[in-house]
Amino acid sequence: MTDVGRVPGALPEWLAEVEPDGLTAPFWSAAREHRLVCQRCQECGTFRMPPAPLCHVCGSFAADFEDLSGSATVYSYTVVHHVGIPGLADSAPYVVAVVALDDAPGARLVTNVVGCSPADVTVGMAVRVVWDDVSDTATIPRFAPTG
Ligand SMILES: [Zn+2]
Repeated sequence: MTDVGRVPGALPEWLAEVEPDGLTAPFWSAAREHRLVCQRCQECGTFRMPPAPLCHVCGSFAADFEDLSGSATVYSYTVVHHVGIPGLADSAPYVVAVVALDDAPGARLVTNVVGCSPADVTVGMAVRVVWDDVSDTATIPRFAPTG
């Protein structure tokens, strides 16, 4: 994969060693295959991100993960200029954003917007998932402007 999804700078060693838990493992396994998925209640259809053990709407434990298109809209964002995480100090400035997943109403994902200047990011901007293979075992979804 290209490096369009990469936030410049090294991945902190402690982050590379984080293991997905049972609830988030399907999300990270799909990401490794460059598929964006979202957990969905099998009783009422509510999407939820991040994954949770039960539905906050109907209380059902029945859930599955559905593939999404990867299209999203910037809901909110901030530009990080001062980095407090060792290993990411050379990455600034970069964008941390909350994106609304277009085909999973109500579900939002905390991510990075990449592939453009931080000054060009706006609320409501159309973005699409890009994949950052940060190690042999971990892939992080980030988002870049469409078009
Ligand atoms: Zn439900």
